[in-house]
Amino acid sequence: MFKSLYFKIVLILLVFILAVMTVVSIVLLNSVTTFYINQFMDQMEECFAETSALHQELTDALSDSSYAEKQKSILKSYESILGIDPYRNYYILTMDGVMIDGSDTELGRELRITPNMLSAMDGKTENKRLRGDGYTDFAVYLHNGNAECIVYMKDSLEEMDQLSLMLLSIVLQTLFVGILIAILLSFFLAKAITAPIQILTKNAQLVALGEFSHEIEVHSTDEIGILTDTFNNMKNVLKNTLLEIDGEKTKLKTVLSCISDAIVAFTDGGYVLHSNESAQKLFGGDLEKSFSMERFFELLDIPLERSPKGIVTTSTNINVEKSDDGTLIFRDRPFGGRVFDVSFGRIHYISDNVKHVGLIAVIHDITNRFELDKSRREFVANVSHELRTPLTSIKGACETVMDDPEMPAETRQYFLDMALTESDRMTRIVSDLLVLSRLDNKRTQWKVETFDLCRSVSRLIEVMRVDIEAREHTVSFTAEENIPQITADRERIEQVIVNVLSNSVKYTPVGGKIDVSVRAAEERISFCVKDNGIGIPEEDQERIFERFYRVEKSRTSEMGGTGLGLAIARELIEAHGGTIRIESRLGEGTAVTVTLPVVCNPA
Ligand code: ADP
Repeated sequence: MFKSLYFKIVLILLVFILAVMTVVSIVLLNSVTTFYINQFMDQMEECFAETSALHQELTDALSDSSYAEKQKSILKSYESILGIDPYRNYYILTMDGVMIDGSDTELGRELRITPNMLSAMDGKTENKRLRGDGYTDFAVYLHNGNAECIVYMKDSLEEMDQLSLMLLSIVLQTLFVGILIAILLSFFLAKAITAPIQILTKNAQLVALGEFSHEIEVHSTDEIGILTDTFNNMKNVLKNTLLEIDGEKTKLKTVLSCISDAIVAFTDGGYVLHSNESAQKLFGGDLEKSFSMERFFELLDIPLERSPKGIVTTSTNINVEKSDDGTLIFRDRPFGGRVFDVSFGRIHYISDNVKHVGLIAVIHDITNRFELDKSRREFVANVSHELRTPLTSIKGACETVMDDPEMPAETRQYFLDMALTESDRMTRIVSDLLVLSRLDNKRTQWKVETFDLCRSVSRLIEVMRVDIEAREHTVSFTAEENIPQITADRERIEQVIVNVLSNSVKYTPVGGKIDVSVRAAEERISFCVKDNGIGIPEEDQERIFERFYRVEKSRTSEMGGTGLGLAIARELIEAHGGTIRIESRLGEGTAVTVTLPVVCNPA
């Protein structure tokens, strides 16, 4: 209540009126006093002037022995001119200031010596316009020959005090009325000022809460009207700016959520400022609540840490690239079974009206490229290794034969056979690689024809009969009735059958059992080669179709394996729109099942 504008306006007006009235009263009372004293002095100076009749008469009276009596009667006759009343009296004094006679002898006895009286006692008639303690006076020195006396006029100022009192009561009455008018006026004034301010305040509070729909009506063209108009404009500008910011924010949010790279922005204190959906998916959960820069560095094994000086490296042997714009890129960081490139840049943000510099990390998933690079490197290493082994054998055999021309024919033949076998192996590897390369580059020439798959399988078993019998295996072949003919690249499908069948022959110990079967279902034909051979360990089964992958390299290469057979088989079958599946138990056997559409369109 005491802080309200209304109270302040009333108070200001009251203080103003009181101040004005006080000043007016002081000035008025002062003026009245001065006027009264001046008037008294002027009147006395005029009456007692040396040239005046009164002065003359009073001086002449001094020649009489009872001059006081005479002077009294003269003064009495001038009473009205001198303004004698109960408050103004005249006295006839000796030169010692003792009253001889006067208009009020009682009061005269109590007379005290005043400065004007002293001046007269010195024989001067010089009166000072003084306001003494409750009086004003005038003393006249009179002399005639040897006789001298003082005529002394004294006014008790009571009349003036009464006049002042009356004036004061008028001022107080005026003050009271003025205060009443001021209260009334200030009420209307306060109402006129505070009502629009209250409306403005209410609307400002609504704006602060984000409510922009209310428009304040402008009723006047004065300062309040201009303020209201300005407020309306300001509110509209603010509304549009907020809408724009909101739009930009939504745009940015949408863009960030559409980016497949994970993005996390950190504050200078290491807390998460923002993270996109990919980042939340990658690290799990609401990162803003539970994640920190330290944890991030730890998870991605990034040799950085936060210190009071900023971000510092914790490793001198740091594999980091720095781009022109100052971005740091950490390559090949493993996390969660995948590999990432992590880039760091600076981000400027405002918090609590203070500008801060944070850190933004972009985590780019490079697993596919990394795997591809890795398999390329492995492939080149494998090809080099696979070709070097037979080349070394051929070179060794040739050198041995050349170094010893006297060598027995049998031994020479052994070395020549060895060179031939190894060059056959090399030829096989190179032609397998060519097949794979053509498949990779989609340059394989497909010769599609319709043929009987059962017949192909049984013919190929017969072709391989020599190898089968050499290892004393028993081969059985079963085919369902009414197997439809298949439309595919016969030569390539037969190559797959040979690869799978030869694996069973190779990796089944002597005297093994191999079952080959063909069946058809729902427009698909499948053939299965099942053996009771050495089997494949579970951990190797998913890698068995990789190029050059062999379970036990030394043992399988002894058996003439190159590790390309199943890789080629899978590429060929998948190019036909089919599938190849392997089921195996170590030491118990393996079953390879190939399923193809009845009509294939290899591509
Ligand atoms: P390879 O030319 O070495 O036979 P493959 O690609 O045909 O190459 O086979 C890859 C590896 O899979 C072989 O080296 C072998 O270790 C394993 N393998 C394939 N078939 C069988 C099978 N029937 N029994 C046991 N192991 C097999």
